[in-house]
Amino acid sequence: MKFGSDLCDAPTEREFATSMIMTSVVILIVALAIAVSVTWYTTKGYEAHIHQQAIRTSVILPLVIVPLCTAIVGYQGFANHRRMLAVSKLARTDDMTGLANRRAFMHAATQMFRDTDFEYSGLCLFIVDLDHFKQINDAHGHETGDVVLIHAAKQIELAAPEEALVARLGGEEFAVLMPYENITQLHQRAEAIRHQVAATPCEHQSISIRVSASVGVGIAHPRDTVSSVLSRADDALYEAKDKGRNRFVIAA
Ligand code: GH3
Ligand code: MG
Ligand code: MG
Repeated sequence: MKFGSDLCDAPTEREFATSMIMTSVVILIVALAIAVSVTWYTTKGYEAHIHQQAIRTSVILPLVIVPLCTAIVGYQGFANHRRMLAVSKLARTDDMTGLANRRAFMHAATQMFRDTDFEYSGLCLFIVDLDHFKQINDAHGHETGDVVLIHAAKQIELAAPEEALVARLGGEEFAVLMPYENITQLHQRAEAIRHQVAATPCEHQSISIRVSASVGVGIAHPRDTVSSVLSRADDALYEAKDKGRNRFVIAA
């Protein structure tokens, strides 16, 4: 899941439209029941054709008015709902890279922890930190640093499997959370990310800038929280830096 907008608790447009239709159907049924029964009792002693005419009118009026009002209110509601989704997406997206930000990551990761049945599936968390990134800023300027950062984010996203949550935690640090089947697959995935970043230089203004990344891997256990795995992954990341960078280390 290369996620972003779908990290939102707000109802989707389809859910919103369905609830609008359901609400209008209920209002229509209630309006029909009230209009018909009031008309029935108030015109009871009248001549038959007046009585029938009144009943017909009491059916037709709600049938016209309720859908019309629903369409007007629904149009406004839909526009507001779209605005709300756009604002919600902004609040959860990292401007620079387009990845989920830390808040969105913590929210989605907590949900993923809750949904994982650890008896059947493993869950692992990578912290990916660009190596000596300060030197890139110093050598090429902050703006070029931004371009390299965006490029690296793209490489991490490309190397991560479809079901992974990929986010920018802040600065030049990213998180990747994903299920895994066995330790061999976990190694392959960490190595794929490391390799993709290191092997794909950023071409910018006719210069080629190489950057590498160190990866700290935390394996989630049934009693873990997102924070406890993040903390272990962070320790492993420090170890990867200590050992010379451009490598992955799995937390003990
Ligand atoms: P290490 O290998 O130990 O991680 O070294 P490093 O230089 O990557 O780490 P350090 O924490 O010393 O520096 C991180 C640098 O990342 C410093 C900061 O200016 C830069 N940085 C953080 N966010 C951004 C950003 O959004 N854009 C740019 N251009 N640079 C950023
Ligand atoms: Mg760094
Ligand atoms: Mg860092």
